[in-house]
Amino acid sequence: MLPIHPQPKQGEILSSWLVRLAFSNGFPLHTFFNSLLGYKGAIWTRDIDRHPSEQFLQLVNEQTQQPLSVLRSMTLSAYEGTYFPELPLHGDVTWLLALGVYHRDHKRAGVQYCPLCLKTDSTPYYRMLWRIASTVICPVHYCAMEDDCPRCHAPVMFHRHGIGRHKIPYVEDLRHCYQCSLDLGGVSPRQPEWPDCHSLSFITTLIAHPELSPWRYLHINAQCSIPFFIGLRAILRLLNCRYGPRFEPIFCGELGTPALPPSRQDFEYLRSERRLTLMLRAAWLLQEWPDRFIEACHVAHLSRSRITEYPDLLPFWLEEAISRLDQRIYSPNQQEVLAAAAYLVRKGEQVSWEALGELFGVQRDWAKRLMKMTR
Ligand SMILES: [Zn+2]
Ligand SMILES: [Zn+2]
Repeated sequence: MLPIHPQPKQGEILSSWLVRLAFSNGFPLHTFFNSLLGYKGAIWTRDIDRHPSEQFLQLVNEQTQQPLSVLRSMTLSAYEGTYFPELPLHGDVTWLLALGVYHRDHKRAGVQYCPLCLKTDSTPYYRMLWRIASTVICPVHYCAMEDDCPRCHAPVMFHRHGIGRHKIPYVEDLRHCYQCSLDLGGVSPRQPEWPDCHSLSFITTLIAHPELSPWRYLHINAQCSIPFFIGLRAILRLLNCRYGPRFEPIFCGELGTPALPPSRQDFEYLRSERRLTLMLRAAWLLQEWPDRFIEACHVAHLSRSRITEYPDLLPFWLEEAISRLDQRIYSPNQQEVLAAAAYLVRKGEQVSWEALGELFGVQRDWAKRLMKMTR
């Protein structure tokens, strides 16, 4: 048994607790796990939060008396059934941020942090939720998540504090950038800027409590979380890809938010700032489901075939909305619009987009485009 074995914190990820375990006993990682505990397998040269070996978990269990069930619940497999059906041993996984493990380094910004969480923790530690790509806002402090050191731009690698011959590591080190020692808890929190509070609060609930199916309140008919997240990812992909800029009349014009150039990368490979913008845009489109989404696709001139050209099998709730796009592809031609305008004049009514919208049974954006055809 080890002299000091700290208890796992609420939502703590296994790697964070393992590092704290070694540091609170006063040892660097190699000395602690290889020499003291006698584990010869790979720990820090792989993503240890994905399927750690049974042998390793047994060993840690014997040394700390932490039940195996607790240890397993601190690995990313805990999200099976929420974000992904099954967590594979290797390779890309939807919704999981990629670390890009290379020797003992991470090439990618796959560990996020909230500066305020790190600042206010009595003992700094890293959360499982911070590895999930949809976690773009801290559900406790409502600030944007960070994914690198703002001074030297190194990815977060808290384990690196414990690598090196002459190091005496401290648990407090977890608060600092491993490369330049900047206090990450002192980083100024960034508040997400977005004009619509409903989409913001939806994202926060979705991050904190996906198990409560918050999409139900938007009348999205997804019975459990996997179909919802598959559909959300398809919408995010649409907003991220080359068709994304087609939505700018809405996001830049109507909502007055900054433009976003297109990207070919998958959502899990994007930096936190871009993921935040995409999540906010997607959450805005999900409000008043499906009317707002359908309307936006019309503004973006996206037909069903354009959206479904992506190979993802769409879940029913999204497929149903997209199928409505084709039903409404009928658009009155200029002759019809002029005839409708003349009809309004005859009735002594003003020719306005509101009146045209009512006549043709279309919503605001579309009605405004019809109005332009009368000029
Ligand atoms: Zn926080
Ligand atoms: Zn740094």
